[in-house]
Amino acid sequence: MAKKGRVFSGARPTGRQHLGNYLGAIKNYVAMQDEYDCVYCIVDVHALTTVETTQDLKLNTFEMALDWLAAGIRPEESILFVQSHVPEVMELHTYLSMVTQFGKLTDLPTFKEKVRQQPENVNYGLVGYPVLMTADIVLYKTDVVPVGIDQAPHIEFAREIVRSFNYRYNTKVLIEPQVKHTEVLKVVGIDGKDKMGKSLNNHIELALTPDETTKRVREMVTDPARQRKTDPGNPDVCNVFTMHKIMSPQEEVDMINVECRRAGIGCVDCKLRFAANLNKNLEPFRAKRAELASQESYVQDVLNDGARRARTIAQQTMKEVREAMQLP
Ligand code: SF4
Repeated sequence: MAKKGRVFSGARPTGRQHLGNYLGAIKNYVAMQDEYDCVYCIVDVHALTTVETTQDLKLNTFEMALDWLAAGIRPEESILFVQSHVPEVMELHTYLSMVTQFGKLTDLPTFKEKVRQQPENVNYGLVGYPVLMTADIVLYKTDVVPVGIDQAPHIEFAREIVRSFNYRYNTKVLIEPQVKHTEVLKVVGIDGKDKMGKSLNNHIELALTPDETTKRVREMVTDPARQRKTDPGNPDVCNVFTMHKIMSPQEEVDMINVECRRAGIGCVDCKLRFAANLNKNLEPFRAKRAELASQESYVQDVLNDGARRARTIAQQTMKEVREAMQLP
């Protein structure tokens, strides 16, 4: 079947992936492979704007790539690579920075938020982050970028930069990327209140063993008003129930929905049921992960091949860009 165009998406190297990563992004990455030519990038250069040390960068990149591959990214079809392995992106970033107004960058809400988060490290790269992101997207002649509704302004900004470049050099060489709205599932962590994430240690890693997974699930916060097993609970405010709706068979979800409200099921039992279903769902992932991890250089070979294929596209784009700019 003919593909609809090229998709690009990038994510920072955060190491082993968790359930929130999977349900919020990776699952969608895997599904899009059926419709689009997909270019997936581990954006290590972006990470440098915020990390204090690079000592874990290699391991985190490896672990993340391994999880993505085990989850179903197909490297024989899709391009999976590391941002810094294609240095052309730095060159395009520089050229795009010349058509981007500094004031617009410092006015962006995302920049202001970063300044609030790390006032002691407002580095030059942080200001230019959206320009580098634009370079990432357009370097690979991207048609479509999948984003959640709240991310759409970032792509609109990228489109503005592309228009400025094309106008300045009277060219159409850079493609304005289109937004593909995707439903980004916000997965709440085991604390029952914040978005699942490593920094809050409220996550469940995909690569945990079944026993470790069950242990994490047992720590999940439930309906806070339910003190005893004999108290009726409210599944509508319980994160365990939300996760059941994603992972468990419908008849089990229906049963919990009824029994919880009349204290017919205890929270421990409910969580163990969820853990069992989660572990069952993760079985193919774990088997694939173990198999890939046992092939010593497999992940590195995939990333090298991805960089080679990405670079072929990037070099062609840069040739056209330099010509359009009439660089000597
Ligand atoms: Fe939540 Fe299940 Fe306990 Fe009800 S029985 S409060 S759905 S964990």
